[in-house]
Amino acid sequence: MDISFIDLKAQYLEIKEEITNAVERVMARQSFILGEELRLFEEEFAQYLGINHVIGVGSGTDALILGLLALGVGPGCEVILPVNSFVASSMAVSKVGAVPVFVDIDPDTYLIDTNQLEAKVTKRTKAIMPVHLYGAPCDMNSIKHIAQYYGLKTIEDACQAHGSVLDGRKMGTWGDISAFSFYPTKNLGAYGDGGAVVTNDPELSTKVALLRNYGESQKYQHISIGQNSRLDELQAAILRVKMARLETENRSRREHAQTYRERLNGVKFQSIIDSATSNYHLFVIESSTRDNLIQHLKSRGIQVQVHYPTVISLQKCYQEMGHKLGEFPVAEQVAHRILSLPMGPYIKNDQMDHIIDSLNSFA
Ligand SMILES: *Cc1c(COP(=O)(O)O)cnc(C)c1O
Repeated sequence: MDISFIDLKAQYLEIKEEITNAVERVMARQSFILGEELRLFEEEFAQYLGINHVIGVGSGTDALILGLLALGVGPGCEVILPVNSFVASSMAVSKVGAVPVFVDIDPDTYLIDTNQLEAKVTKRTKAIMPVHLYGAPCDMNSIKHIAQYYGLKTIEDACQAHGSVLDGRKMGTWGDISAFSFYPTKNLGAYGDGGAVVTNDPELSTKVALLRNYGESQKYQHISIGQNSRLDELQAAILRVKMARLETENRSRREHAQTYRERLNGVKFQSIIDSATSNYHLFVIESSTRDNLIQHLKSRGIQVQVHYPTVISLQKCYQEMGHKLGEFPVAEQVAHRILSLPMGPYIKNDQMDHIIDSLNSFA
């Protein structure tokens, strides 16, 4: 039995007709940038999240960059973020000319260790960037408390957290501003690149709307140095189709996660904090013999991945910062132990059985 890590095709087969209709609608209109589909998607996603403003942009990375720029983060500023994330989180900070300041992770949630956060605050700190990694909500109450005490902004990296919830409130609505990615394999994925900045602050919203479109306030009137980063009409039309299924699909992911938790023997899973619900973008477990386990699963036709094998501080692109091995002991150790099991809304019961049997039979 071959089991892919994420089965995008199974989803496509379910929605094929709606996708075709959406694409044809755009083709009939022949309007491709900043049109009706984007306007409606922004409205629908805002309503889904329970937030006032959604600004569709070119990617999740761009969403982080434009969010940081709108907050006024630039050269001379520091931004505090976890050392275990996709590299785009910190690259966005570097890209706006600020310094990423890394914090080790909690050994159970794999998220930013809020107990170590405060020690990283300096006079230059401008913002905290929590990352809801694998879809698991960070402890936003503690983070906002620290941010308020020191007068810092909060920018959520919600690129993996579409539909995740803490205290009844969706992730992405906790920060001053937040970033989502619609990369194809995300829980809400386009058929190409896409992203969104979301905020309740009308001024930040206006800033991002300008920045994504050459700082243009009216046709050929440019009031700030912006860039070109827009969610195009085709992707917006596709995302509208997929948005309608997001809750159902997340529910299915949660059921699979529950099955893993109940039936896997003696396995350590990512912990989810109290009063939080993950969207299970990824289902991450730990193993002291991780690489052998990956081989074992592969031999049984099961694809798994590692998110992420190298902590950001040790990436070559950050070599000049002079971070050392041993500086972030928890994240460094976890990076050698974690693996992500197949996860997605369309995994079948017999596939789940095969994955669980294969894991439980591994000595
Ligand atoms: C996917 C992702 C990004 C970047 O999104 P892109 O759309 O690929 O640019 C940023 N942060 C995290 C945590 C992500 O998972």
